[in-house]
Amino acid sequence: MRKTVLAFDIDQTLNVAKTPIPDEIADLLIDCLDYYEICPISGQKFDQFLIQIVNRLIERGAKPTQLEHLHLFVAQGTQYYRYNNYTTKQYGIKPIVSVEVSKNHPFAKYDEAKWEQVYNYPLTNEQVEKISSAIETAVRELGFWEEDKLAPGDEIIENRLSQVTFSALGQKAGTEEKYAWDPDCKKRNKIVKRAKELAPEFDYEVGGTTSINAITPGMNKQFGMKKMLKMLDVKKSEILYFGDMTQEGGNDYPVVQMGIDTITVRNHEDTAYALRGILGVTE
Ligand SMILES: [Mg+2]
Repeated sequence: MRKTVLAFDIDQTLNVAKTPIPDEIADLLIDCLDYYEICPISGQKFDQFLIQIVNRLIERGAKPTQLEHLHLFVAQGTQYYRYNNYTTKQYGIKPIVSVEVSKNHPFAKYDEAKWEQVYNYPLTNEQVEKISSAIETAVRELGFWEEDKLAPGDEIIENRLSQVTFSALGQKAGTEEKYAWDPDCKKRNKIVKRAKELAPEFDYEVGGTTSINAITPGMNKQFGMKKMLKMLDVKKSEILYFGDMTQEGGNDYPVVQMGIDTITVRNHEDTAYALRGILGVTE
């Protein structure tokens, strides 16, 4: 069946983990917006989607009519945001954020871009506390708690509303440092094993370069992808998904398990290669 939706993991699939997408990916995604619904889905928070993807697309010239085909499945799709190009007056929809772009930019007039939150499934405070304490205990027991390496104001365990995320060196650590921390996932697999003993009612997934995402069972990418099917009113077979952690236990694995067609990439260069091929076929 013809694909109508291209869905993407973000970290290591569209970018170098935790950094804005490179020009090449931005340009390819803009081209794809003319032919496909584009759905990034990742454990990150909304502001990171803006910094890493949306701002870059606007900087590279994405038009509002193209942005209407961009769907942000935040925190593994437990939150969904979309661009609404209609005036607030006309439809009474309240914009929730302004996208910051350079004032000289030709599309800066769209910087009051209207991103509407369509749904949100947050964790309760009690759940956040249980998860945080299980992870911290596990990490400290294993000797991987590296608070001394944190940048000022950074944190190891972050409440992302729909999930709790452990980032061994914090969010702001350098890329190289992060890559070096746990390249074979061994440290994180140990943490996951222990955290699961301490708080078994939650699921823990290894992602990014130093991260573990803790969620309530079922609130993984599969939840997000099911929502995507509903929200976009498409069939599974219409989606093509790109991810770098499609192996068992990886945070893209739930998508594979659903039977959605998946392309496993090592990095954003692989993704760019595949997208060039797809666009070559489409045009
Ligand atoms: Mg990834």
